[in-house]
Amino acid sequence: HGAWIDGIRVHDSTRRPSGTTGLRGNVEIERAGTIALVGRPNAGKSTLLNEILGEKISIISSKPQTTRNRVVGILSQPPAQIVLVDTPGIHKSRTRMNQAMVKVAVDALADVDGVCWVVDAIKAVDALESGRAVINRGRDHIAKLIEQAGDVPVTIALNKVDRCNKRKLLPVMAALGGRLPGAELVPVSALRGEGVTNLVELWAKQVPEGPAMFPEDQIMDGSERFVVAELIREKVFRLTEQEVPYSTAVHVEKFDESQRDEETARVTIYATIVVERPSQKGIVIGKGGSMLKHIGTKARMDIQRLLGCRVHLDLHVKVKDKWTTNPRSLREIGLE
Ligand code: GDP
Ligand code: MG
Repeated sequence: HGAWIDGIRVHDSTRRPSGTTGLRGNVEIERAGTIALVGRPNAGKSTLLNEILGEKISIISSKPQTTRNRVVGILSQPPAQIVLVDTPGIHKSRTRMNQAMVKVAVDALADVDGVCWVVDAIKAVDALESGRAVINRGRDHIAKLIEQAGDVPVTIALNKVDRCNKRKLLPVMAALGGRLPGAELVPVSALRGEGVTNLVELWAKQVPEGPAMFPEDQIMDGSERFVVAELIREKVFRLTEQEVPYSTAVHVEKFDESQRDEETARVTIYATIVVERPSQKGIVIGKGGSMLKHIGTKARMDIQRLLGCRVHLDLHVKVKDKWTTNPRSLREIGLE
């Protein structure tokens, strides 16, 4: 059970019988962390996510990347909880990537517990067959970003092996392994689900010991709120045409579900968009409130689709109170 929205998988634990956590037996989460999925478009990242997280219920087309690391799926498979994330910038074409963007991508990768580079084996074999290098400029660029991220453990999912001659895969694997010697290579077919458990097992070892990052029996609630905030944030970013920065936060203040089970099901959400500067507040509100209304309408449509019921969305905008809410400032004054 679950839903996909904007490529984000939302586990639905509400349909489980009450009294269970929805997890197998009484095994607890003992390790938890984030794994970044990287790779060129069409390498098969979404297919892999679907395969890992189960049945795809609904997919809404891709969206611009608006956060440092965007959660795209949560796999709670005790004893490990693996939070799969997407990183901003990393999928941008090499030529369009300026230095600032490279830094964003590298910082985002340095933040995670593991990186999984998804490589299209069909293309790699093709390259080799026609006498081109497996490590072309595009692949070299991704390898560089991964290297610059430091000590992060790396898996390379060599995907689409269902359509490759196994013997021709060997030199491809040698080339990739030669470029990133520390990486674990795993041939997979995301489409057929082959090799995927090997990959998940490696990730489960890469995430550090610690408690679940998302409450196990509240995964639905937690990620619903989270996804709602992300959906609003995405609208802010997209509709203002990126005049409002990445760092814009959305706080879901109240999530009133008291009418959710009624015949005329309805959820009321109170959320605040927190911007950095008064000028940005002006942009988000727009002339006569037109921009905020637009943001609200678009976000509400997506949220309704996520929650499967009518939604009343109450949006406010405020300028950030610098010293208490900005993690960067907290770090600067040594509190974090
Ligand atoms: P993304 O852009 O990295 O998210 O790639 P997608 O998951 O959208 O996949 C791109 C294309 O590759 C789609 O047509 C998939 O069906 C196909 N694809 C993905 N994984 C496999 C695989 O394991 N085998 C084959 N043959 N095709 C795959
Ligand atoms: Mg995709």
